[in-house]
Amino acid sequence: MSVATESTTFTSLNPATGEVVGEHPIHDEAAVAAAVARAREAAEWWRELGWKERRLRLLNYKGALTRNLNRVAELVHQETGKPLIDAQLEMVLAITHLDWAARNARKVLGPRNVYPGLAAINQKCVLEYQPLGVVGVIGPWNYPVFTPMGSIAYALAAGNAVVFKPSEYTPGVGLLLAELFGTVVTEKPVFQVVTGLGATGAALARSGVDKIAFTGSGPTARKVMAACAENLTPMVAECGGKDAFIVDADADLEAAADAAVFGAMSNAGQTCVGVERIYVVESVYDEFLGKLADKAKGLRPGFDREADYGPVTMPGQLPIIERHIKDALGKGGKAVVGGPESVREPYVEPVIITDVPDDSAAVCEETFGPTITVHRVRDAEEALEKANRTSYGLAGTIFSGSRSRAMDLARRMRSGMTSINAVIAFASVPALPFGGVGESGFGRIHGADGLREFARAKAITRQRFNLPTNVASFSRTDKDMARLLQMINMLHGKRYK
Ligand code: NAD
Repeated sequence: MSVATESTTFTSLNPATGEVVGEHPIHDEAAVAAAVARAREAAEWWRELGWKERRLRLLNYKGALTRNLNRVAELVHQETGKPLIDAQLEMVLAITHLDWAARNARKVLGPRNVYPGLAAINQKCVLEYQPLGVVGVIGPWNYPVFTPMGSIAYALAAGNAVVFKPSEYTPGVGLLLAELFGTVVTEKPVFQVVTGLGATGAALARSGVDKIAFTGSGPTARKVMAACAENLTPMVAECGGKDAFIVDADADLEAAADAAVFGAMSNAGQTCVGVERIYVVESVYDEFLGKLADKAKGLRPGFDREADYGPVTMPGQLPIIERHIKDALGKGGKAVVGGPESVREPYVEPVIITDVPDDSAAVCEETFGPTITVHRVRDAEEALEKANRTSYGLAGTIFSGSRSRAMDLARRMRSGMTSINAVIAFASVPALPFGGVGESGFGRIHGADGLREFARAKAITRQRFNLPTNVASFSRTDKDMARLLQMINMLHGKRYK
């Protein structure tokens, strides 16, 4: 975590011990503008480098991250308080994504011929996806490597320069990511970091970059979008979630309980795609709840090597978690594991609450803590209907013994990603796009869609020969037009059954 100490610097603190991890400058509007100006020049150089050389540099960046995995993970551990093993896991995921982006950028974005259609058969058509220029990335603290790299790696692979504003809680991690990039791209500042609080992010959003990739909360996304509007800067918004987990009557209950407790409690529940609501079909409700509670009771937060998860990174989140627990219990909820007393700064012990009304804060708002509400439902249909009753729509999970029913439910779940019989599995697959609907944001990172998010389509036609009729000329005759209409009639005029 971090606090501002004076107007020009701020410190990042270890949220578990309160120790200072680092002190960093607060970059103001002028400093951000200067970084963006340097990035503009670097972007041209990076674009001119071409697909092959960029691929090589990015694969070498991946190598540098891999060789420094423990160094980066240790800093993530210090700045967020999460267990070292979780920080290592985050690095593994980020490295996998960087590798995919580097290897697939040309295939997804490079020039390709497009069939022109009979009416334009004399045209050779080329479609390619060109870099936007400079991409501004604004990141959160909860996964300070994996989350921003979902934009940074794909933006760089698409041929853009990047200016990254990491969260004020994890500035050191952001700087280290850029420092390691600087060891493989020494010529130009293709990937820079600006540090500071919200105002630094706001300056980046207003700086005239070619796109903003924002990851954070919905309220901040609205401010960033308003700032982007000043320059018509496009934006991708990866925001919060209130993800549901459905347990069907024929699910493997042991596996479901194991996945649910990990999805909800790992990283102290500070996961955008974390499990926050569980809907269980009534025939297996008691058995599932028993297993879930047993597993949750065995978990212990702490900062030591054996701890299952760490502290709440952002102190301001603790009263929100406490309010959700109290509100749920005040409205008739029953605490099966933990309760309001589980909130012990800076830690929150596992909390499971049942019988919580659908309109309580713990069911409607993002809690971002190691808490779960569990709901009894008639069948999987009712589970889905309740799962979809939210303004968010990031991800979700379905545990079912029936492949076809699970697929059907997954398709109808109002979310960008759904994982069947595992939790958060989509995040580990670089080829799959990642993003939400509604309050959870718009646009996609990861995969081919994630590469295209940081590129603009360019269409080129080259006329190879003259057609007998040229209607795009003032010399066209009625006969030319009649011939064209005759052909169109033949091609498109029939009735379809
Ligand atoms: P936040 O919205 O408080 O901050 C995110 C970033 O925005 C930080 O770098 C912050 O300094 C910056 N910022 C703050 N005010 C700004 C402004 N006015 N203009 C520009 N930038 C500004 O979010 P957070 O607490 O860092 O992260 C937690 C949230 O992020 C949760 O809601 C979580 O669900 C979400 N999240 C989403 C994803 C996803 O991929 N969808 C991933 C991780 C986290």
